Amino acid sequence: MDAHIKERMKEIGGETILFDAPMSQYTTFRVGGNVEAMYRSGNVEELKEMVVFLIDEGIPYLILGAGSNLLVRDGGLDGVAIVLDGSFASIEDTNMAEPHIVAGAGLLLDKLVDLCTERGLAGVEFLAGIPGTVGGAVAMNAGSEGQEIKDVIGEVTVLTRCGVVERRDRFGLSFTYRGLDLGMGEIVLNARLNLKFDKPASIRKRVISRVKRRKDRFPLDMASAGSVFKNPEADHAGRLIDAVGLKGKRVGGAMISPKHANFIVSTGKASASDIVALVDLAMAKVREIFGIQLIPEIKIVGKA
Ligand SMILES: Cc1cc2nc3c(=O)[nH]c(=O)nc-3n(C[C@H](O)[C@H](O)[C@H](O)COP(=O)(O)OP(=O)(O)OC[C@H]3O[C@@H](n4cnc5c(N)ncnc54)[C@H](O)[C@@H]3O)c2cc1C
Repeated sequence: MDAHIKERMKEIGGETILFDAPMSQYTTFRVGGNVEAMYRSGNVEELKEMVVFLIDEGIPYLILGAGSNLLVRDGGLDGVAIVLDGSFASIEDTNMAEPHIVAGAGLLLDKLVDLCTERGLAGVEFLAGIPGTVGGAVAMNAGSEGQEIKDVIGEVTVLTRCGVVERRDRFGLSFTYRGLDLGMGEIVLNARLNLKFDKPASIRKRVISRVKRRKDRFPLDMASAGSVFKNPEADHAGRLIDAVGLKGKRVGGAMISPKHANFIVSTGKASASDIVALVDLAMAKVREIFGIQLIPEIKIVGKA
């Protein structure tokens, strides 16, 4: 990254710009090389200016939520990781006549669930325990136990590559299984979630039982990015990986979890290439034995 680009980025983003930032500190896998620059944006006007500048200069950027679905390769990332913070990490609006909440993209899902519970707003309990942000959940169409965030989305506000803020209602959005078809470089700024009234105590009870079920099923005591693969039609990626005998398989410091075969965990000293090797091995074995092509749910980015 040229000196003049760095200077201009500092003019726009000020103290929030960090150069050569270790992505291992910003992803739940805790692996990966450095990103050339990290920019924490706290307001939309500044974000617009930065995005337009980066596009004009041909500099790639990646929106980074809580990094809980990202595997950054060991050679690091070119360009800029943009984190939505400040005003993006809060509840922007609720209306008690019509039960809904407008949540900023940078807000953590557990915080969202807590705030909804306190206010007696039901409908997002299925997001409890998913360690991402609202923006990441919208971009990934996050879900659990048969529910997905698209089920409660009323509207999403997006910043386009041209620096235009657009509001798109549910019907103008193409959600897929663990995905949303956003235009290239588009950034989710907030989401309006349509909820229902309920007693906080009843909501809390459902949240607690969800979190308990997750603790029982998933290896939450080790670094991971959750489910590595999407479930194939009418089957489970974890069942297939188990059936080809890979549960507990290790490469370097990475391991296919003995608790849940669709999780790859770091035993503490994994590199991204160890994890990628296990991803490739699971795909090859399942294809060889079952003729099924597993598709990664995690986003693998950066240079090897
Ligand atoms: C222990 C564990 C358990 C998990 N369990 C589940 C589960 O039950 N269900 C489930 O669905 N997922 C699960 N996940 C995966 C992950 O938490 C979700 O995919 C989550 O929604 C990712 O959010 P994030 O903020 O961390 O996104 P990141 O990982 O930071 O980013 C993921 C993708 O979304 C894009 N993105 C992020 N924010 C924005 C934005 N504002 N605008 C545009 N694009 C954006 C990124 O560029 C990237 O492509 C789990 C992960 C872990 C570690």
